[in-house]
Amino acid sequence: MASVTYDDVVKKFGENTVLHNININVEDKEFLVLVGPSGCGKSTALRCLAGLEEITAGRILIGDRDVTNIAPKDRDIAMVFQSYALYPHMSVYDNMAFGLKLRKTPRAEIDRRVKEAAEMLGLVDKEKKVDLLGRKPKQLSGGQRQRVAVGRAIVREPAVFLFDEPLSNLDAKLRVETRASISKLHQRLQTTFIYVTHDQVEAMTMASRIAVMKDGVIQQLDTPQTLYDRPDNVFVAGFIGSPAMNFFDARLVKADGALVVECGAFAVKVPENKAGPYLAHAGRQVMFGVRPEDLHDPHYAPPGIHQALVETNVDVTELMGNEVFLYLRVGENNFVGRVDPRTQARIGQKAQIAMNLDNMHLFDKETERAIR
Ligand code: ADP
Ligand code: MG
Repeated sequence: MASVTYDDVVKKFGENTVLHNININVEDKEFLVLVGPSGCGKSTALRCLAGLEEITAGRILIGDRDVTNIAPKDRDIAMVFQSYALYPHMSVYDNMAFGLKLRKTPRAEIDRRVKEAAEMLGLVDKEKKVDLLGRKPKQLSGGQRQRVAVGRAIVREPAVFLFDEPLSNLDAKLRVETRASISKLHQRLQTTFIYVTHDQVEAMTMASRIAVMKDGVIQQLDTPQTLYDRPDNVFVAGFIGSPAMNFFDARLVKADGALVVECGAFAVKVPENKAGPYLAHAGRQVMFGVRPEDLHDPHYAPPGIHQALVETNVDVTELMGNEVFLYLRVGENNFVGRVDPRTQARIGQKAQIAMNLDNMHLFDKETERAIR
């Protein structure tokens, strides 16, 4: 069991800097998810921690121990890769036992750990009369192979588990199930997990904290709820949440003692209780952000919100059963609303939309940083 620290870690490949001064403190037993688009440096960050890549500058600590120059096998971590890389000629049992055999772990101990992990992962289930330990990888489904790869990490009983996009090869339904079982596994093992994915839904559902990365730079590191409620910049605001936050190029102006966000074809008045931090930006270009779930059919808007009513054109409607996605247009602006399924909004017609300004976001147009 251990904490993990990236202390000003820089990684270059030749002249190309892939990780820029990464600082992360992962607490003991935490489930930290590192999320960002493909190519932003997530795998490199994990591989540096595992010791599979040498870092260019900075330090990496596991617990209090500086492991920067320690060999991978002595770092007390286990990694589950996207490609499970099981040995095709070995049984499930032998695949899971292999690493322990190399370490000369006593046979009885290997047997205990493999069987315990196999039961934990449902590879052996006496009640259901399931026992996959004798099978070869090619006799397994994708989901079962994925569990063997996780089992191979569990038997090592490491201080830290690393996962690099372990669900990407599974179909959508299995991904959802496996997501839940990895969360349960974390509960059960009470060990530090560091999990890399490009999928913000995986990040939101599993993480105790999320580090959002772009171009080798950590953009924000916080709890899922804080990232959603208080994104620090336009990138995080647009990355977390689905469908993504709507953004409007706008100008913040003072009119009749109030602040108004002028978005071209429409304008909204900033609620008084939100105006404080925005005042200094009056007269400047900003980006106005509002999430699809903060747009409502006015008939079904939650009571008591500060709302702005906007006339929109409805380009497309998508009925999801529990809600309707409205693809809306005002002037040059296209945006999405997630509204009550009882809405009467229809394709090709106009619809009045209530924007919940209690949850509005404003960003500086130049720096793209949240104005607070
Ligand atoms: P992610 O996992 O977020 O998709 P990676 O960490 O794999 O991103 O890659 C980050 C960047 O580093 C990419 O631009 C990639 O091309 C580059 N990169 C990764 N590994 C190497 C390597 N061994 N040599 C040179 N460049 C690499
Ligand atoms: Mg990767």
